Amino acid sequence: MKIVTYWHAGTRQVGRLSADGRTVTPLILSEQVKDSGALVLIERMAAGLAPPGDEVPALPISSVRLDAPLPRPRRNIFCVGKNYHAHAREFAQSGFDAGASKSGDDIPSDPIVFSKVPESVIAPGAAIRIPLGVSEAIDYEAELAIVIGRGGRGIPAAQAMEHVWGYTIINDVTARDWQQRHKQWLIGKSFDTFCPMGPCLVTADELDGSDARVRLWVNDELRQDARTTDLIFDIPTLIATLSAGITLYPGDLIATGTPAGVGIGFKPPKYLKAGDRVKIEIGGIGVLENPVENA
Ligand code: MG
Repeated sequence: MKIVTYWHAGTRQVGRLSADGRTVTPLILSEQVKDSGALVLIERMAAGLAPPGDEVPALPISSVRLDAPLPRPRRNIFCVGKNYHAHAREFAQSGFDAGASKSGDDIPSDPIVFSKVPESVIAPGAAIRIPLGVSEAIDYEAELAIVIGRGGRGIPAAQAMEHVWGYTIINDVTARDWQQRHKQWLIGKSFDTFCPMGPCLVTADELDGSDARVRLWVNDELRQDARTTDLIFDIPTLIATLSAGITLYPGDLIATGTPAGVGIGFKPPKYLKAGDRVKIEIGGIGVLENPVENA
């Protein structure tokens, strides 16, 4: 099942995307959809209830405007740093990794977790804004994001996949100079518009998150191309680690890290600039594309 949050007739709604992606069937959910999008559906299914049936006619996808599936996540988005082997080496060698002060620091021994604030989320097609005068070292990061269904604390890795409701795509946009200067990554990762999300949610029964192809283009140049089989810490390990001391809730998001090919991996770095278009495709989910503008 593919789920989209969208705007139609002046209101935020949630619907099921058809197999061919051409129509969306609205789901009758509570009034909370206006604020939290598909979170209402995830909470309902996490509680063991079936999604609502098709009670209203389908709409052509061209008649709606997509929103981020979870336009305002219930709390910060958990993110994993340096979680692909090739990217971990690339980042350590870039000089931007404030944590890699000695050789051998490139492959982490435990997951590196930071977060992005909920207000950084933007819709497919919405502009990533470069805050001129604040930072112009703006980079992209294509990532598979896990959507938690049934919550819990102390979830063992062996049972972790039972807590995965589904997946989406996140672009973990980053101000590299702020990331480096402030050591802790939250500030440089949480600028307004720095979390494009979408285009839909895909339920876990339809996607094998352990072997998904992740690609990113800037304009027509393919920059990132990897499979999640290259993850240093796999999805069960991430869920077990996070939930060891923190209770996870339905709708929590965990961005699993980005592959090699980010802008700072190039010499000189290839930062995003106004007029660029960033496109991410993850097989089985779809395409998330956002333009870049000056703010
Ligand atoms: Mg990232």
